[in-house]
Amino acid sequence: MDKLREECGVFGIYDPKGAVANTAFHALVALQHRGQESCGIAVNRERDVYCYKGMGLVTDVFNDKKILDNLSGTMAVGHVRYSTSGTAIPENAQPLVLHYIKGNLAIAHNGNIRNTAELKKEYERTGAIYQTTSDTEIVAYTIARERINSSSIQEAVSKSMDILKGAYSLVIMSPQKLIAARDKWGFRPLCIGKKGDAYMFASESCALDSIGAQYIREVLPGEIVVIEKGEMTSITEHVGKVPTSFCIFEHIYFARPDSVLNESMVYESRRTAGAILAADHPAEADVVIGVPDSGVAAAVGYAQKSGIEYADGFIKSRYIGRTFIKPDQSDRELAVRMKLNPLRSNIAGKRVVMIDDSIVRGTTCARIVKLLREAGALEVHVRISSPPFLWPCYYGTDVASREQLVSYTHTIEETRKLINADSLGYLGIERINELVPGGDCGFCNACFTGNFPI
Ligand code: SF4
Repeated sequence: MDKLREECGVFGIYDPKGAVANTAFHALVALQHRGQESCGIAVNRERDVYCYKGMGLVTDVFNDKKILDNLSGTMAVGHVRYSTSGTAIPENAQPLVLHYIKGNLAIAHNGNIRNTAELKKEYERTGAIYQTTSDTEIVAYTIARERINSSSIQEAVSKSMDILKGAYSLVIMSPQKLIAARDKWGFRPLCIGKKGDAYMFASESCALDSIGAQYIREVLPGEIVVIEKGEMTSITEHVGKVPTSFCIFEHIYFARPDSVLNESMVYESRRTAGAILAADHPAEADVVIGVPDSGVAAAVGYAQKSGIEYADGFIKSRYIGRTFIKPDQSDRELAVRMKLNPLRSNIAGKRVVMIDDSIVRGTTCARIVKLLREAGALEVHVRISSPPFLWPCYYGTDVASREQLVSYTHTIEETRKLINADSLGYLGIERINELVPGGDCGFCNACFTGNFPI
């Protein structure tokens, strides 16, 4: 599928009552949409760190209860990965575990470090040897170096935040402490949860819901949160130093619709996007449908605002993993058909408004429009719940290079012709701040505007 891909999902837990690996397992299943290539869980035991990780989905890697039973401890760090930096090889699976002069660390990272190449060279000159091709190893190495001249691990993390430039939401475990840190721009999400005496950190609140924990708040951009002996403390010296740049695409596409970001449920942001599209790009039509999954909430919003009936347009196969098929060009149409089957009774003989979250190359969108026409749609009006993509992303997603973006190489009218739609409308860039109640929360919109915060 010609789609942006999510980055990674991170999770951390401190629970004096134990069974942390089991809880981390369930949280990672809830975060699976953020990465399907590899996953892992690390736990503390005495002053050591034990880790189990592998390639594949969480339920495939942790496919035997004994694996989780063997991961006993009072703290755990978990990770699901899709590689936006480094390749999809077992060595790059996370959490990364580091044994160094001050002890052991486990690190889970979501984001991309922009100055990886510079730091890598600098560290190589002083003898660094790397075991992975992932930028997370540079994060781990930076923290370990800074720890040598710091009085605590949180001080080392704080010093590292002055060195690392880019997007990172981190969960770090030392034998005594669980630490969450978020870059000062706050590109990627990270929230805090609590259940009884246990504390958790998670990329999205849906992970907290899945384990019956209560959402407390977001880790602030630039904040370091430390859990030690059941007490939570916050270090805020990096908070408020730069304008916040939270990835608007988390609301539009990446995050699960039942997650809360910027104090707002993602489903509501998507429904609002649909309502805005209905106001700005009306269509004479009989039915509104959404491309699963993220187009559905926007389609509901479009239908509510326009008064046009909402209907399910597709049945999506739930059982095709994202890594199941890597089709070559000739197989891609088949891949789209396998994933999405149009519901003929809702489409045949009708003028259809079809809502999707984005157009990257345009090839998948064209195939979906073709499927609808083959299912008997009289007209297909495509509405996109994001502005046109014009720039790549450097902050933890895999948005393609500019030349591969159809909106960069084609005008909107040319794109409409390419995907064979009767009309095409995008969410206006000036409308982005309306997706979250209360307006501008400080969003990154660089892939639409080229205004890169770093
Ligand atoms: Fe998100 Fe786009 Fe910014 Fe990347 S460039 S962080 S995808 S808004």
